[in-house]
Amino acid sequence: MLNIDLHCHSNVSDGLLPPAEVAMRAAANGVHALALTDHDDVGGLAEAAAAASAAGMAFIPGVEISVTWRGKTVHIVGLRIDPTHPALVAGLADIRQGRVARARRMGEDLAMSGIAGAYEGAYEYAANKQMVGRTHFARWLVAQGLVADVRSAFRRYLTPGNPGYVEHEWTSLENAVGWIRASGGTAVIAHPGRYPFDHRETHLLLDAFRALGGEGIEVITGSHHPSEYGKWADLARAFGLKASRGADFHAPGEGIDIGRLPALPHWCQPVWQNWPELESQLSLNVA
Ligand code: AMP
Ligand code: MN
Ligand code: MN
Ligand code: MN
Repeated sequence: MLNIDLHCHSNVSDGLLPPAEVAMRAAANGVHALALTDHDDVGGLAEAAAAASAAGMAFIPGVEISVTWRGKTVHIVGLRIDPTHPALVAGLADIRQGRVARARRMGEDLAMSGIAGAYEGAYEYAANKQMVGRTHFARWLVAQGLVADVRSAFRRYLTPGNPGYVEHEWTSLENAVGWIRASGGTAVIAHPGRYPFDHRETHLLLDAFRALGGEGIEVITGSHHPSEYGKWADLARAFGLKASRGADFHAPGEGIDIGRLPALPHWCQPVWQNWPELESQLSLNVA
């Protein structure tokens, strides 16, 4: 069986490792096909692709786009995208511009609750200065000794109802799916179990996403508890969506490692079915 991981981050967004190191780590973990899916930026794809090729691993160009749907943040992964497509490039540039202003507001919010210098601190932690996000604030809060770890930073700060969380309007679901499709890619809803939606809203999201041309949802992800895998596999099937698998790796020691998740439930239709990139891996695997 092929080990396929279609969701991870480099330091081009909020991961800790440079793109080439992410690819080398995936290869060392036995991954046959990897997608790098940095938040709102495709700047790491060329470097990761070169490292993947040197390691004999198939590489899928990807991205994870921040979306606001019904007032809540939803992440849409694009797979097999063309990172040079003008509509995608322009759309992502807009989102990144919004991020910098948001980070300043997050810093002001934390300052109001007595934590000074957070924006400058988080900015230092961001390798890509356009991509400063909550994870960089979390790592800075840990380094200040204000919280024990990144998880606690999100629990006490940076999440709705806590200091450091500011409302932000990302792009629309329609835009994100549209850009991905325009660039030849496949749109997948990231970690669907992580959103604060009830059954009705979840069904509305899956319907709306499919109507826009979205094709899959993540079933096996580091964000789902194993007890949830079956439920999302069933929903994918019920809504005519394919299934994806990805660890959502960010850093060694933070969450699940690349390529270390269980296989898709056998009744799922994999999103990678018939992808030409996987043929060489299949023949190598059989040989
Ligand atoms: P942003 O796009 O700046 O809002 O940051 C979102 C990122 O923060 C996600 O992609 C995760 O990497 C991270 N994140 C969100 N919630 C948590 C959490 N509860 N614990 C750890 N990391 C989180
Ligand atoms: Mn992230
Ligand atoms: Mn995400
Ligand atoms: Mn992610």
